[in-house]
Amino acid sequence: MRIYKINEIFYSLQGEGAHVGRASVFVRFAQCNLACAFCDTDFAHVAYRFDKNELESFVLALLEKERVASQPQIVFTGGEPTLQLCESEPLLNGFYRCVETNGYKVAPRWIEWVTFSPKTKPIATDNMRRANEVKILYSLFSDDEMIALARDYPDKQFFVQAIDDGQRPISHDSLILFCKKNPQFRLSLQTHKILEIR
Ligand code: SF4
Repeated sequence: MRIYKINEIFYSLQGEGAHVGRASVFVRFAQCNLACAFCDTDFAHVAYRFDKNELESFVLALLEKERVASQPQIVFTGGEPTLQLCESEPLLNGFYRCVETNGYKVAPRWIEWVTFSPKTKPIATDNMRRANEVKILYSLFSDDEMIALARDYPDKQFFVQAIDDGQRPISHDSLILFCKKNPQFRLSLQTHKILEIR
């Protein structure tokens, strides 16, 4: 059985993107294939080494501890979860499962919702096809590149989000202007930071 390296598992509200405000179990995988200068996530530490059964038991115990009345969604995040998620080993069957990925690998078919946040060029077409939601950090890509992407994939939900490296105050002015000019994009705010929750 595979052993998953996990950075943390916690229960909170989804802070950003299409599922904002939705109660979610976050399973943060350790390790990433990239080293973005603006990364705001401490994913290096391996807190747990779980096989599938141990991971699922941990999540069920967490939901019992939180006295959750019905099934919340699961969000696999990182780091980069597709370094470890595997097509042949579905996790947490029966839950609505989301993944937040930089597109290192195309997300397994058993994932119900894919948030693709590209960080490098060129943007792979197989990742775009698999995505439900595309979250672009402003301005890793030019306005023209973003507009072309939205034109080529009109069935996807597109978001733009400010880069927050924790070092500088964030300005949303250019993003607001961009979204007003290009209504196919929605502004994604990191509401968990505004609310000061995890
Ligand atoms: S892809 Fe995401 S998790 Fe990985 S280094 Fe870049 S910002 Fe951090």
